[in-house]
Amino acid sequence: MKILIINAGSSSLKYQLIDMQDESVLAKGLVERIGIEGSNLAHKYGEGLQQKFNLTTAIPNHTEAMNIVLAALTDKEHGVIADTSEIGAVGHRVLHGGMKFTASCVIDQACLDAIEECIPLGPLHNPANLQGIRACQAVMPNTPMVAVFDTAFHQTMPPKAYLYGVPLEYYKKYSIRRYGFHGTSHRFIAGRINEILGMAHSKVVICHLGNGSSLSAVVDGKCVDTSMGLTPLEGVLMGTRSGSLDPAVVECIANNEHLTPTQTLNVLNKKSGLLGLSEYSSDMRDVRAKAAEGDEKCKTALDVWAYGIRKTIGAYAAAMGGIDALVFTAGIGENDGEGRESIVDGLEFMGIELDKEKNARIRGEECEISTPNSKVRVFVIPTNEELAIARDTLELVTK
Ligand code: AMP
Repeated sequence: MKILIINAGSSSLKYQLIDMQDESVLAKGLVERIGIEGSNLAHKYGEGLQQKFNLTTAIPNHTEAMNIVLAALTDKEHGVIADTSEIGAVGHRVLHGGMKFTASCVIDQACLDAIEECIPLGPLHNPANLQGIRACQAVMPNTPMVAVFDTAFHQTMPPKAYLYGVPLEYYKKYSIRRYGFHGTSHRFIAGRINEILGMAHSKVVICHLGNGSSLSAVVDGKCVDTSMGLTPLEGVLMGTRSGSLDPAVVECIANNEHLTPTQTLNVLNKKSGLLGLSEYSSDMRDVRAKAAEGDEKCKTALDVWAYGIRKTIGAYAAAMGGIDALVFTAGIGENDGEGRESIVDGLEFMGIELDKEKNARIRGEECEISTPNSKVRVFVIPTNEELAIARDTLELVTK
């Protein structure tokens, strides 16, 4: 079966067509600036997805975006299927499943209603995800669809990990608690590391380090804690997000800069993190290059970044009573050897011993990067959220 994966944002729509027979990607692409002037499609296909087709045209809404995607996929020149009937199912990425979704689900009216009810928890993303689903339903009314939630994997956390120390009535009335994100990636990695370790019982810390970053503590394949919270703002320092801080900082910034709470959160989400501290860039490669030239602000930003991640690994080792394996994934985790070394530097007391030469070499490929003597095994494992969504979709529609 061929499965189309859709990740819809408010003005964008990412897609991948995967042939589940060999899990190969037949085509992928991105529609940008939906409903804005200058909307365009960037479509990749063919051997190694090296061939490109670009189209700039008016794309007023998500339904039109889906029409353009389907036209590209079935085009005689740059298409990869003869007809849309070859698409057996569609898997949609949905940000927030609240407490309603502990796993992926086939999209029916009840599922749509539940995603809608989660809008207060994901006010920016869930409406966009719903737009993507509805657009697909409009152009492919008979194709089964599945929703895969960023939060679902973390629903196994116990109350001691997910409750905030605020009046309990806010949890009851407004569902304010830790949810965690990047769940599809954490679950994909948890599954793979369990295969590699082959242990009946395991304690693993997964570091998903990209532009957005989160860590999870995983016992026997189940999440027991994670660093992101009610929203993706909590946790470690990220590209543009501050990560955790004293909530009083919000009032302090708001008062001094004459900002509303929403504007202040915008600063913490979009102008902070590596970008805010380095006063240079949110991109790890840029910050690292500038630090190598001796830039003090970039060096400090990198120190703050690594220190926060190291502390979280220590906290999760304490939470689980030890750790068997540490995994690095996502853009930075998979590619940045220097970053990985700086994070585990000082964790030798926990039994972590990095093979520094191997670590420096490994980019974007699965590899064990600890020494044979290391008590804690350390790995780089590339994540693949689209494939995880496709596998869930296949499983649910063929049930
Ligand atoms: P992601 O959000 O998972 O796509 O990751 C994006 C981040 O990965 C950006 O900060 C990139 O700078 C970073 N990244 C990608 N390749 C490298 C690399 N070779 N070295 C350091 N950082 C990298």
